[in-house]
Amino acid sequence: MLFEDDSPSHLIGIARLAASSDLLEAKRQVEYLELETRRFIGRGSGRMRSIWTINPYRGCEYGCKYCYARYAHEFMELRDPGLFERKIFAKQFRALAFRAEVRRLKLGDTVWIGTATDPYQPAERRFQITRQILEVFADERGLDLGITTKSDFVARDAALMAQIARKNKIRVHLTITTLDERLARLIEPRAPRPDLRLAAIKKLTEAGVPVSVLAHPVMPLINDSEESLDQVCAAAARNGASSFSAAPLFLKPCAAQVFLPFLEAHFPHLVGRYRERFEKAAYLKGHYPEMIAERVERIRTRHNLARRREPEWPEPFSQEPFPKDQLDLFAIPLYNAK
Ligand code: SF4
Repeated sequence: MLFEDDSPSHLIGIARLAASSDLLEAKRQVEYLELETRRFIGRGSGRMRSIWTINPYRGCEYGCKYCYARYAHEFMELRDPGLFERKIFAKQFRALAFRAEVRRLKLGDTVWIGTATDPYQPAERRFQITRQILEVFADERGLDLGITTKSDFVARDAALMAQIARKNKIRVHLTITTLDERLARLIEPRAPRPDLRLAAIKKLTEAGVPVSVLAHPVMPLINDSEESLDQVCAAAARNGASSFSAAPLFLKPCAAQVFLPFLEAHFPHLVGRYRERFEKAAYLKGHYPEMIAERVERIRTRHNLARRREPEWPEPFSQEPFPKDQLDLFAIPLYNAK
């Protein structure tokens, strides 16, 4: 274990009361472990096969009830789905080895950070692995970077991302499923409040980092009303986001193990309908996804946001694919260690 959480035994008065609240109780149960890692950059799978992925952590303290990434702990024989949010593995980071991996990428390659964990979850405040990764990318050029998070802590790196954007494409995908704080606390119990995430959009876009807002997942009869999605999209536009998208919930078995008991506790009237819809397949098909796609399109048009807006390649990467002579021009030595 890298860190023990502080004991609250010395606390008195309001601090002791606060330490007994749900949030700190949950935090107290979190274990941080160091995970030796031979390679940081992996190939995406399924529909993401064409991109490279980086996940600085395994597990995620935010504990979203619908989280599909819980499968990542199953790979480590940690089959209790709750361990995904209580046992957080911080990957051992060595800048020199990581830089060598980055140098093997090709110009124009796409790299997504945070496909199976949140790279700005609380562990990042302690270990700063995401920060160190971005510091390496700041020395690179011609890469297409995306960062997915639900954390306002992402704004810490606004200036660094702006620096990366001078020689690469970079954008942040920030997830906001609802502006209703009470609902957000239920479905994403330890993630930052929606208003904090909105403030992070503002800081990033003011620094010149494009932000796309994802209202994924859209959960039937929970956050799928036109009014709810419209509120998120309107707030995203007001704070400077350039695109907005929302896709229906999918429930793989590892996510269903947590999501269905959650429904039983908080939305018992919906359990039967969800079981019926998700019993045979993890993905919803037919009328519902079509209706949500039309709804989201209508909302986007209303707020003048794109579904997807690619940042421009900075000069001199103004065209794609890269001409051969540019490949030579930007040939980079294997190591450029500081
Ligand atoms: S923030 Fe993302 S990775 Fe973390 S629990 Fe929520 S859905 Fe899973």
